[in-house]
Amino acid sequence: MHKISVAIAGAGLSGLCLAHALIRAGFAVQVYERDSAPHIRRQGYRITVDEYGIAALQRCLPPHLFKLFLATTSPTDETGYFRVTNQKLGEIFRLTFRSDPSGIDLRTPRQVDRQTLRTIMLEGLQDSVHFGKEAVRAESASDGATLHFSDGSYVHASIIIGADGVNSALRKQLLPDCEPEVTDSWGIFGRTLLIHNGHSLVPNSLSTSGVFAMGPSSRGFFFTTMKFREAPQSAFARFKVDQIPPVTEDYVMWGIVLPKEQSPEHQGNLSKEMLLRFAKEITRDFHPMLQRFVERADIDSTMAVKVRAARKPSNWPVSRITFMGDAVHVMPPTGAHGGNTALRDAALLAEKLEAAVTQGEDLEKAVGSYQEEMSIYAFREVEASKKMLKRFSSKNPLMNWVMLRAIPWMRSITNKPIPTE
Ligand SMILES: Cc1cc2nc3c(=O)[nH]c(=O)nc-3n(C[C@H](O)[C@H](O)[C@H](O)COP(=O)(O)OP(=O)(O)OC[C@H]3O[C@@H](n4cnc5c(N)ncnc54)[C@H](O)[C@@H]3O)c2cc1C
Repeated sequence: MHKISVAIAGAGLSGLCLAHALIRAGFAVQVYERDSAPHIRRQGYRITVDEYGIAALQRCLPPHLFKLFLATTSPTDETGYFRVTNQKLGEIFRLTFRSDPSGIDLRTPRQVDRQTLRTIMLEGLQDSVHFGKEAVRAESASDGATLHFSDGSYVHASIIIGADGVNSALRKQLLPDCEPEVTDSWGIFGRTLLIHNGHSLVPNSLSTSGVFAMGPSSRGFFFTTMKFREAPQSAFARFKVDQIPPVTEDYVMWGIVLPKEQSPEHQGNLSKEMLLRFAKEITRDFHPMLQRFVERADIDSTMAVKVRAARKPSNWPVSRITFMGDAVHVMPPTGAHGGNTALRDAALLAEKLEAAVTQGEDLEKAVGSYQEEMSIYAFREVEASKKMLKRFSSKNPLMNWVMLRAIPWMRSITNKPIPTE
């Protein structure tokens, strides 16, 4: 057992994933989380995990937690689709994802409830995660670093990791030229129980689809279904974990993307009820099924966010302090890569630190090598998701006419419409 200590700021997806990997490799790891308790904020949206996210979880988590993660993802026994449509669900194009009836092909993307995944990752870390500890700054020295908290306390560690998300206090201090740009788009996100009065709000024809409906005035409506492969209560019991599943029912996650000049910022400080009312108003031109999602939404889960995109550090000094995930490379949700890239960072950083310890190499060299490799794939994803966001919220009238009217009309001649009842 070696004596390398690691302090991680942020118990989100990347922080918890890294903690598991390093603890398994014999590091002394402590995680410091700003929130006072695990579930005080609704973080109830689903994310698509792709082959990078799945591989990272497989590498980092203890095998029984990885199996529990797989058990609570969406089923993969039917072909999946990502469909781009006009506001009335007339199809413009679609991407197809192959099915995997065995459920064990880890290259097949699937849906996971973010809060459920985070709860699974808290298992086994009960003594390592400290809630109510808001990191405010960090200082590096030749033999380690110090992490300071808002309550005046501090800890020393061999390495400090900023995994404190999009508003990272450590990034503001150490990479001041990397404040993420605020894009021209806003997102309103919500969730709605899938089953109402015994009926599914999503027809079979769309149950394995993510749909982005492009609407008027550069607005877009996205939705997808979060169905659990195995009921979380039974999966958590089967794997004998101490945690309680935070979400137990299937749901529809939806999001409205709108230009900032139409955003709720211009509507003053909206409560969740008012935000939902605003969401209802701006979706009146969309297909009735999409309006139903908003009408029946869970008020508490509704949130509005400015869509942001990271700036690549022009000079990223190598020290005993580094960053992972949204803290350094937040990206628009278009493309569904933010969380996957954050998990990939955790796996890569774990690999570099473990190799440095095994080979008796300098930890800073490992951090430098991580930063170099990570910057390449992460900022490629930032650029790709920015491009996709622009394409989906285009204000070009000709382009919009072709996308929203001409193509769906031509396709309606050759294809049957998507059944929505
Ligand atoms: C609606 C929506 C849909 C998305 N869909 C997808 C998707 O389909 N696929 C995908 O890959 N990604 C998706 N993402 C992005 C994904 O959720 C994030 O990229 C991912 O959660 C980032 O992980 P992280 O570990 O960097 O940060 P987070 O998971 O955000 O964790 C950061 C943690 O740090 C804590 N914290 C903050 N400040 C401090 C502080 N000062 N001190 C201590 N702790 C602090 C926070 O409370 C939080 O727990 C989506 C995002 C949204 C909003």
